[in-house]
Amino acid sequence: MDLYDQHLHSKHSFDSKADPRENVEAAIERGLSGLTFTEHYDVNPDDWKSCVYDDVAYSEAIEGLRGEYGDAIFIGKGVEICYQPRRMAHVLEFLSEHRFDMVMLSVHYFGEDAVHRRANWASLDVAEGTRRYFAHVLEAARFVQELQGGGKRVFDVLGHLDLVKRYTQRFLGEHDVDACADLRDEILRCCIAADLTPEINTSTLRQGLDETMPNLATVRRYAELGGEAMSVGSDAHVSRAIGEGLDEAVSMLLDAGVGDLVVFKGRERVLVRLDGG
Ligand SMILES: [Zn+2]
Ligand SMILES: [Zn+2]
Repeated sequence: MDLYDQHLHSKHSFDSKADPRENVEAAIERGLSGLTFTEHYDVNPDDWKSCVYDDVAYSEAIEGLRGEYGDAIFIGKGVEICYQPRRMAHVLEFLSEHRFDMVMLSVHYFGEDAVHRRANWASLDVAEGTRRYFAHVLEAARFVQELQGGGKRVFDVLGHLDLVKRYTQRFLGEHDVDACADLRDEILRCCIAADLTPEINTSTLRQGLDETMPNLATVRRYAELGGEAMSVGSDAHVSRAIGEGLDEAVSMLLDAGVGDLVVFKGRERVLVRLDGG
């Protein structure tokens, strides 16, 4: 089966020191057909100080690796855009000026606050914080639906749509996303209408949670609503995590009746059959 890890980071992201070459070698060792780097492009002014995104250096690294390893594996240049409602004009300008194989939109904030900062949870319980996050993801999905109504894709993938559970687990000791099934369903409907592919992000399996982002119930719901294919990614920030959990993600897709992976090459949407044929 052709497997592609379409969510991973290297030293071209502020929160990773991974050597891009070691990432590629790890992916080849794991027998993957491809890997797509999704380096962080930070959009909130609070994050600018730490942002290391440098498109020239990043593009050169990808080109060099393609020259060396391009016969053995597909190497994609992607980007993980942090959704910030007040900065989207800037994001659209940035995207129009740079070339990618895949553009991922991820929600890391709820309102003005970063979901990964403990201080922002001081007055929230699990139910409230989870709902607040999902409402923000729905806002992002609606933004994309409106933007892509004309048919031209600007964003290809919606990253880790229930990321909030990583932080309710870490800061409050539990997670419960099923209480937000109503918002989740709206998010999935928007994705289908907008040609925005949700991913299964397996990083939570390495972080003490018992499920991927999103979970099997959500993948099943996506299929019921008419979704036919998803993207999978490890969200690796170190080389040894490349490809981890993808087998589990594929089992979930097959279990839910989703028969294809979506792979993006030069912004083209390519379907890869998952039945092992
Ligand atoms: Zn992310
Ligand atoms: Zn990421």
